[in-house]
Amino acid sequence: MNLVDGVRKGDPLSVSRGISAAENGTAEGRTLLDAIAPLVGRATRVGFTGPPGVGKSTTIDALVQVIRASGDRVGVIAVDPTSPFTGGALLGDRIRMGKSTEDAGVFMRSMATRGTTGGLSRATQDAADILDASGVARVLIETVGVGQSEVEIARAADLTIVILSPESGDGIQAMKSGILEIADLVLINKADRIGADKLEQDLRGAFDLRPSRRQADIPILHSVAFQGKGIPELLNAIDLILAGRRNNGDFDQRRQSNMVKRLRNLAEYMIERDLWNGAGGKLESVAKDVLNHSKTSYQAAELLVHEALKTR
Ligand code: GDP
Repeated sequence: MNLVDGVRKGDPLSVSRGISAAENGTAEGRTLLDAIAPLVGRATRVGFTGPPGVGKSTTIDALVQVIRASGDRVGVIAVDPTSPFTGGALLGDRIRMGKSTEDAGVFMRSMATRGTTGGLSRATQDAADILDASGVARVLIETVGVGQSEVEIARAADLTIVILSPESGDGIQAMKSGILEIADLVLINKADRIGADKLEQDLRGAFDLRPSRRQADIPILHSVAFQGKGIPELLNAIDLILAGRRNNGDFDQRRQSNMVKRLRNLAEYMIERDLWNGAGGKLESVAKDVLNHSKTSYQAAELLVHEALKTR
């Protein structure tokens, strides 16, 4: 089976190979991405972010069970630059995610750390496209809510969920870090621990201080993920928000603004790649030219740019 057909049919091996090819920027990956493009856009993408240890993986695992009970197939992408596992490490995924790994209706993947943050974002979007084309109904994207770039990846979805827990001052940290700004829904996990109600009050207080229309509307839900409590309600809330947005046009609007960001990132990546592919060999010699005053630094840089554009 060729790669494109395999992905279209939802063959797990093809999906896995395709994601690796796209991630590594190979010609096969590019061919695949172009071929599946007409199939992309059907799955809804939900981003999850939050501090380490709040229960993101546990929550996603529980959510996957609920989604599977409805018969839908689902893809999960874990973007964790702190993870020692490299892309697609099956063992790592098995440890991270519990029950879901034995189910053929669930495709799970962790993304390797890329050289640049733009690279990680690009690889994640490409992986989400491949999963989308493979016929999953939903793509769940998990990122650790610490670095700005990881938070941005969670934001590049149709909906972004920020997960917090009453432990270890997550709430205060979340308010300080600005992570709440991107939340369409806040999930307070570990609601079995003391402090969940207090955290909700604090969050409400923080939202009231910044009374933009969006923040006032943000649902705050509670869950005990390792018992599956609150997870069906989470899925309902997700679907309710998405249905509302499809009705009022916000859904398409968000896809449009996410696509603008994505294309900006992609174009920058291509320019940089072509620049050093095309003109990289001239770098040493033009540096000498600047030092011996036969060119100014600006003239030398312009020459490199012209060289790169010639290769297009
Ligand atoms: P992540 O780093 O955010 O992905 O967090 P994990 O999903 O790995 O969970 C971190 C720890 O919290 C694990 O030991 C989980 O078993 C535990 N945990 C997850 N959900 C809950 C919960 O609702 N209540 C309690 N008390 N512990 C939980």
